[in-house]
Amino acid sequence: MSQDYYQVLGVERDADARSIKKAYRKIARADHPDQNPGDDDAEARFRAASQAYSVLSDQEKRGLYDRYGEAGLSAGAGDMNSVNLEDIFGSFGDIFEGMFGGFGQQQSGPRRGADLRIRVPVSWQQVIDGAERSLNIPRHAYCKNCEGSGSNSKAAASVCPNCRGSGQTAARQGFFVMANPCKRCAGQGHIISDPCSPCSGSGRVRQEATVEVEVPAGVGSGMQLRLRGEGECGDAGQARGDLLVVFQTENPPNGWERDDKDLHRLLPLALTDAVLGTTLEIEGPRGKLKLKIPAGAGEGDQLPLRNEGLDDVNGGRRGQLLFHVNLQVPRKLSRNQRKAWEKLRDI
Ligand SMILES: [Zn+2]
Ligand SMILES: [Zn+2]
Repeated sequence: MSQDYYQVLGVERDADARSIKKAYRKIARADHPDQNPGDDDAEARFRAASQAYSVLSDQEKRGLYDRYGEAGLSAGAGDMNSVNLEDIFGSFGDIFEGMFGGFGQQQSGPRRGADLRIRVPVSWQQVIDGAERSLNIPRHAYCKNCEGSGSNSKAAASVCPNCRGSGQTAARQGFFVMANPCKRCAGQGHIISDPCSPCSGSGRVRQEATVEVEVPAGVGSGMQLRLRGEGECGDAGQARGDLLVVFQTENPPNGWERDDKDLHRLLPLALTDAVLGTTLEIEGPRGKLKLKIPAGAGEGDQLPLRNEGLDDVNGGRRGQLLFHVNLQVPRKLSRNQRKAWEKLRDI
């Protein structure tokens, strides 16, 4: 089960303290549980790296590890296999400081639930009008049968008598002391004598929750909404984590371009309309609109319709709808048209 600590961090055996710290920081940044909610593999890598770092960053422990391997540690330096996240934050606070907004100062003890993140696709129509959406969120809830205790009779878990709570057992093999995960408690350190069947003793059950979310009109791709208390359940008595809703918006239809809350559109315009001016009925994001073309409109002129763009998600003014004049030069002329243009030239 246990890997070589140097390999875990990806450093050479003679790496100095600085490179070891750097290597650990890199892994911690990528695999931190807060960054990867629900990703067990990332959490396992994070724990393994943290354990490796806790040893290799300590001169004395590193020396023991170099000489005797992990066995040297369990004999001399206490119980390294049961390293838990709270200990990691407590011991290496300086590593994490400034990395994720200072959870380095986090207190050990019961933790609130993890945050969940969900991507929500938003159609172009919903970008224009906004919407009420019901989201199905797979998350955990306390098991009702055992009230979260994991035990059928709701009895508290008892300390494993085999390993006395450490989660590992030591076996002497000649000179060396080998550490193995405790078989009785599967390395947990505690046992539940009558595991609850609906939750297999974990105290939690997977559940699909329905959460209502308001998609604000004018929402942009990547915008996030934080719904407090709609994430994973935490330790007993602690608040649920938050649900982060990340909106992914559909692109505007062909011919339209979006710039924040402004919309741009190419306006193919007949030469006669450009010269003489007119009023056109055109399709806006919310239905038909009247657009006044001033006489003498030129190629590339911008004709704005204020307040006809997208809503401002922060409650400010609506954006504008901008038409870009694109003159249409007639390529095929009928006999009569040709005569008319020739007449124009001679005037
Ligand atoms: Zn249960
Ligand atoms: Zn045990």
